Amino acid sequence: MDKLIKKVVIVGGGTAGWISAALIKKLLGGVIDIELVESEEIGRIGVGEATIPPIRYLNSALGIEEAEFIRETKATIKLAIKFDNWRVQGEHYFHTFGAAGKSLAFCSFHHYWLRSRQQGNKASLWDYDLNYLCAQSNKFAPLTSRSGESEMLYAYHFDASLYAAFLRKFSEKIGVLRTEGLINKINLNPDSGFVESLELASGIIVHGDLFIDCSGLRALLIQKVLNTGYDDWSHWLPCDRAVAVPSERFAETLPYTRAIAHKTGWQWRIPLQHRNGNGLVYSSNHCSDDEATNLLLNNLGSAALGEPNFIKFLTGRRRKQWNRNVIAIGLSSGFLEPLESTSIHLIQSAVVRLIKFFPHQGVDSAAVSEYNRQSKIEYEQIRNFIILHYYVNERNDSQFWHDMRNMEIPESLRKKIEIYRRTGSLFQEPDDLFVDSSWLQVMLGQGIEAQDYHPIANQLTNKQLHDMLENIQKSKRSLVGNFPSHDEFLTTIRGGLK
Ligand SMILES: Cc1cc2nc3c(=O)[nH]c(=O)nc-3n(C[C@H](O)[C@H](O)[C@H](O)COP(=O)(O)OP(=O)(O)OC[C@H]3O[C@@H](n4cnc5c(N)ncnc54)[C@H](O)[C@@H]3O)c2cc1C
Repeated sequence: MDKLIKKVVIVGGGTAGWISAALIKKLLGGVIDIELVESEEIGRIGVGEATIPPIRYLNSALGIEEAEFIRETKATIKLAIKFDNWRVQGEHYFHTFGAAGKSLAFCSFHHYWLRSRQQGNKASLWDYDLNYLCAQSNKFAPLTSRSGESEMLYAYHFDASLYAAFLRKFSEKIGVLRTEGLINKINLNPDSGFVESLELASGIIVHGDLFIDCSGLRALLIQKVLNTGYDDWSHWLPCDRAVAVPSERFAETLPYTRAIAHKTGWQWRIPLQHRNGNGLVYSSNHCSDDEATNLLLNNLGSAALGEPNFIKFLTGRRRKQWNRNVIAIGLSSGFLEPLESTSIHLIQSAVVRLIKFFPHQGVDSAAVSEYNRQSKIEYEQIRNFIILHYYVNERNDSQFWHDMRNMEIPESLRKKIEIYRRTGSLFQEPDDLFVDSSWLQVMLGQGIEAQDYHPIANQLTNKQLHDMLENIQKSKRSLVGNFPSHDEFLTTIRGGLK
């Protein structure tokens, strides 16, 4: 144990800095002082606009009202990601936040569906998934368990700069102190090696007991000062660049993200209320910046609204996300490409974990090591899920996809694929963010065929099986039939504003 923690200093005011500030202040603000230092001269990364459903828990913990949030951040609803051209060109599949069918004790719904397919059922798994049915028909209404069906999981797309501004306003209102300034120097205690203070270009010195490094890819404290080290995962995920550009919105706002595979990477398209967010993620070993820019600009589907913005990154994670009295949160803690929109979630999850392990009596090495162990597992499991999308491909149009198909994958992922292929069964690792239905949709979408299904599915007669599947589909379709369009929902929640 070291000294009591009374003041937390957050370095950086991007999405990571302001989520950390808002949540820690909200939950510990009565006993801890928080100061956030950011530099407008350096600015934020300016991307990061698609999220996953747990963001709604964050909003609810902060007491943020959905209508205000949607209005202020120009948000739209996200029910799924549509993957185009990933297995082969010309094909697509969805990874929805929902699950097909209904939950059944002991045997997942998909085993019944796998059996029915052997008997000639032509319906896809997604035909039994409410999120998919809504996404396909561009409809949305919030559905809670009170509606008689289980809750429909959804997330948001939002404007990254409006989101940071929204959180800043929120945090300052509840008492977070913000200091503008460029950090020039970081002072360490000569005995403990702990960070003691930051020196700003203006000459101001900011003291603290615990420092959260949200300085983005610069990793100012965790790497530049503490030299923590990095596990490089680029042999599994070689994309190391992105080029991003906004474009005009489409007439209809889709309630899902597009992830469109190209010869040397993939393109995101994120529908917002006022524009689309777009970008191409690519591997600089397989594609030049000019080729990437052309590919993106030729596939926007609407007029570009700005100049292309280039970002370089290295996929992997910081060896320790908590080192001495510094916790890295956000891009300073590692990078996983945005294919499954997991980075903002990783920020949220890191802050929640820090609050659970909050070292109010001083930094405790056992707590730090448990924090680091949990963070490592979380990162590795998401990494494996992302690798799955690339590895199981049948594209023959480029060296990139050939290389992805022929790489050595982590053993735990190889086992998971093999078990599903042979038995049709999936198992969720403890602490895996992605549940079975996520793994199933991507495995199916990428073309992995299960050779068997669980024998419990044989307990039903053919007629019982047929009726069960038909009833599920009918009830979900009739529910969706009554929903408003996504745009109608957005107009209503914004208070009638077009
Ligand atoms: C191409 C791409 C697409 C992405 N898409 C998604 C997505 O769809 N969904 C998702 O969840 N995530 C996505 N992410 C990740 C997401 O953008 C980040 O997780 C998120 O924006 C958090 O960034 P940050 O706050 O860590 O860093 P930044 O936004 O870079 O903030 C860093 C802060 O540190 C400050 N700073 C740095 N150095 C100094 C200094 N010397 N003195 C003072 N201040 C300093 C800066 O001023 C800034 O305020 C994407 C990332 C990339 C690269």
